[in-house]
Amino acid sequence: MAHHTAIYPGSFDPFTLGHLDVVERACQIFDCVIISVAKDTQKDPLFDVATRLRLIEASVKGLPNVQVDAFDGLTVNFAKQKNAKTIVRGLRAISDFEYEFQMSQMNKTLYPEIETVYVMASLDYTFLSSSMVKEVIRLGGNVDNLVPACVQEALAAVTAH
Ligand code: ADP
Repeated sequence: MAHHTAIYPGSFDPFTLGHLDVVERACQIFDCVIISVAKDTQKDPLFDVATRLRLIEASVKGLPNVQVDAFDGLTVNFAKQKNAKTIVRGLRAISDFEYEFQMSQMNKTLYPEIETVYVMASLDYTFLSSSMVKEVIRLGGNVDNLVPACVQEALAAVTAH
């Protein structure tokens, strides 16, 4: 059987337990999952790309078929470069659907061989997003149950300044 690599692209600013849940499930399905950190996000990031890579690597240490990488430009070009025919994305609610639907159609137009596969958010994490984590941190709240331990530490260091 052919080796099946999937990329899981996103901003991951920061990586949450919702992202980890998607990765843990995707790596049961694919031979290799490459968590792919988008360098040129339009959002103003809390953590730079190097920090995001480091935090994700620490969070997925126990998963043997998971790699972490960063990319510039089109997701489909990165998929081609990595010989991946699948993009993995997570779906939390109907509100995610419209953007994800447009994105998957556009990616298919740009690269017809690509397929986007969606992993439904676990019930525990349907409300969880990186922006929500940043908002809670900004307002002085606790996100210990929402992000991996290494991300908790990095967030504590940022807010201490
Ligand atoms: P982007 O900035 O490209 O939306 P994110 O880092 O916010 O990237 O998320 C990457 C992917 O993970 C997206 O497909 C998003 O829907 C999904 N995702 C984010 N949080 C969760 C969660 N709690 N459960 C399931 N999927 C999620």
